[in-house]
Amino acid sequence: MDNKQIANIFRKIAEILELQGAIIFRIRAYERAADTIERLGAELKVMAEQDTLTTLSGIGKDLSDKIKEIVETGSLKYYGDLKKEVPEGLLQMLKISGLGPKTVKLINDNLKINTIEGLEKAAREGELRKIEGIREKTEENILRGIDLFKKREERTLFYKASDISDKFIEQLKKMKEIDKIESAGSLRRKKWTVKDIDILVTSKQPEKVIDTFVKLSLVSEVLAKGSTKSSVIAKDSNLQVDLRVLEASKFGSALMHFTGSKAFNVKLRQLAIKKGYKVSEYGLFSVSPDKKEELIAGQTEDEIFSRMELVYIPPELREDRGEIEAAQSNKLPELINIQDIRGDLHVHSTYSDGKDTIEIIAQEAKRLGYRYIGISDHSQSLRVANGMSIENIFKKIEEIKKLNKSIKGIEILCGTEVDILPDGTIDYPDSVLKELDFCIAAVHSGFKQTKEKLTKRIVSACKNKYINIIAHPTGVLWGVREECEIDFDEVLKAALENDTALEINCHPMRGDLNSLNILKARRAGVKIAIGSDAHIISELKFMDLGVNLSRRGWLEKNDIINCMEVSKLEKWLQKKQ
Ligand SMILES: [Zn+2]
Ligand SMILES: [Zn+2]
Repeated sequence: MDNKQIANIFRKIAEILELQGAIIFRIRAYERAADTIERLGAELKVMAEQDTLTTLSGIGKDLSDKIKEIVETGSLKYYGDLKKEVPEGLLQMLKISGLGPKTVKLINDNLKINTIEGLEKAAREGELRKIEGIREKTEENILRGIDLFKKREERTLFYKASDISDKFIEQLKKMKEIDKIESAGSLRRKKWTVKDIDILVTSKQPEKVIDTFVKLSLVSEVLAKGSTKSSVIAKDSNLQVDLRVLEASKFGSALMHFTGSKAFNVKLRQLAIKKGYKVSEYGLFSVSPDKKEELIAGQTEDEIFSRMELVYIPPELREDRGEIEAAQSNKLPELINIQDIRGDLHVHSTYSDGKDTIEIIAQEAKRLGYRYIGISDHSQSLRVANGMSIENIFKKIEEIKKLNKSIKGIEILCGTEVDILPDGTIDYPDSVLKELDFCIAAVHSGFKQTKEKLTKRIVSACKNKYINIIAHPTGVLWGVREECEIDFDEVLKAALENDTALEINCHPMRGDLNSLNILKARRAGVKIAIGSDAHIISELKFMDLGVNLSRRGWLEKNDIINCMEVSKLEKWLQKKQ
């Protein structure tokens, strides 16, 4: 367990104690310890071994023993026991974003509510606002939080789902009875989150395939088992996996049908009718005036597209956003692949809240085949993320100069991720910003401001001549915070006029910009930067997710600044000054 996970356990303990109405002193002790741990540069694991934990502020003998227990055993008995003392439903309620233990206790004390369903009902009926201390606004926030919570329970992040799907496919491929195999659905379209997994196979022995499928070690529960179709729940997840066994002659049409999207399928069916055809999961048919149908394609998607006089449309584009029209006139974008990415400009090092040194990051980036890597540590006002003091910036600049001489084959760019403060100013002076190779700016607080104010903040950052990229422009956090309301057209205009790129932040928690906004940015001519926001080198691989998103947003190489070679990129970064 790392520091963050240990701090998390202490925060959870504080929450439960508050739910139980414990004395404030005990609650604060755990919160303070969590604060200390989060800001700590050293590893708790190492400190536990050296027996130096009690030198930390707020950590006495009792907490030091608890940390040692977590480090040694991976869990804490006290925490496990504590959880058992409160109803499960109350703990669930704590998972709703914006709902703290104080409010949960207040609601439970007054209305005896201890489930999310009960909470939702009471909020909808306006019962909560009758409690002293709960306002109408709080009630609205709770309902919004419940919506987010449900979404998080219903859908799974693409990268987790694709991992599960890959494992199923790997196991199924071992069966000699299976010929073709492919996953369909929103997973194949590479949506940021998916509801379930659809796997299609061809085989002459469907029953044998189904029998093997339901017995795979990856299955936790069998929901349905027919002769050509079965549904199961994947182990260690809520994810439903559907398997369909098809005849080879219908594989292409079924793949197209189950890949969707629904809107794309509707549009395609309409086009088929215009051409005197009919298309369904069973194939592409010509329809004669006396309504006789004859199968003319179905084995592959290629075949169907070509009979419909369309160039092949990649699954990521199948959303009815103009792709069918573009395919008719051969004007589909040339989508990128991970090999087109020359570097990552959004990475945190030990200079702020990252886990790895710049040297380690640079070596890993080189191993990944990047030509450059931009180190963008947090700025001073972001204390929770151990933001860099001005003094440390100059230390970092010197260190990078040295590393650039000693490590060949990769260029390290010295950058920062500065805060756009609530009044729209940037928290480093220009005299500091101008010393850096590039600057990213982002909103990290004050999300509750009005749409006008939030938009103004971002627009003023675009106008700053040292700011090159606006990171995670809408502030969305998966399952925690919705996209905040900004006037996106205004932002696009400011970005375009001031040569500022907008980011696709591909950390799984974010996925910000979303594909529709990316498409809007492309159509407006605004440049995009794809950044992993890695805080540890293993997270650099999130770049794959950003590439997926860029494909869903129709981006070509020319739209993306980190597809540029380093010399061209450096020129682009300097362009504003
Ligand atoms: Zn950020
Ligand atoms: Zn960041």
